[in-house]
Amino acid sequence: MHFNRLHNASPARRIGPRQGFGALMWGAVLWVGVLCVGCTPIKNPSAADLHRPPLRFFGHQSCQAPALARTLGRLNSASLYVLHIAPFGREESGWATYAPKIEQEIDTRCAADTAGFADALARWQRRRGLPATGVMTVATFAVMKDDWQARRPFVELRATGACPRPPPARDLADAKPSEGYEGKLVQLRKGALTAYRRMVAAARQGEPALAAKPELLRLFSAYRSPAYDAARCAHDHNCQGVVRAACSVHRTGLAFDIVLDTAPGYPVDSSADANRLAMVNGLAYRWLVANAATYGFVNYPFEPWHWEWTGEKP
Ligand SMILES: [Zn+2]
Repeated sequence: MHFNRLHNASPARRIGPRQGFGALMWGAVLWVGVLCVGCTPIKNPSAADLHRPPLRFFGHQSCQAPALARTLGRLNSASLYVLHIAPFGREESGWATYAPKIEQEIDTRCAADTAGFADALARWQRRRGLPATGVMTVATFAVMKDDWQARRPFVELRATGACPRPPPARDLADAKPSEGYEGKLVQLRKGALTAYRRMVAAARQGEPALAAKPELLRLFSAYRSPAYDAARCAHDHNCQGVVRAACSVHRTGLAFDIVLDTAPGYPVDSSADANRLAMVNGLAYRWLVANAATYGFVNYPFEPWHWEWTGEKP
């Protein structure tokens, strides 16, 4: 199901220090449990990790580190699929779905269960005024999520109570049928479409594996008029709450949904956890996380496929 409701700004879930501490203690208990049955080895980055940003920790190019950081890496490993979070309204088990974005955010290409990741996270926590534990907690995730959302002009605008008007038709441009998923005809604002084309060309030029799968990075949704969303709400009972009809970011002509690698059997817009996890670990998403900002695009992290162009005001 396409969680359009979640495109829109929602007040950040503020987590108190007591909850953060509780999560940390819970992580510690889990870690002890892991120790009792044997710990998963701390991993070095795989070949797929080459798309992550450069390393800058401990002054050397390795995800291995001193004993304390390895311990912190094990704590993160223990919580990666079990930490209870609900950053975008829906309860989730663990933060693995967000790991590629977090690695980008904290400037490491070490995987989330490594010592190198823990060290980079501790540096980020220190910069953001949080306890520099190197361990992912509910409180740390909440601050990071707020940072991500603050980069979305639409979210900032919605926080004021405003809903942008859709652009005039003359500001919209048609994408080519070959740019739409299964030939679908979609529209974007002209600047957003130009930026999309530049980005996709760079992705396919830089990554032969992406060029070899031309369905990847095509658009399965872009501009949607308020009337279209309202009609879909009325006829299909596909209202996603009421926000799809009330004020979807897709009305701006700046947002699109892009085809990523899916889990077997899942559609391109499935927000099932298994599908989202497969998406974020695919090359297409990892390339976007590392490079899309260069072209002015920001992601709504709950929906790996949803991106917004920031080159014009919503
Ligand atoms: Zn979308």
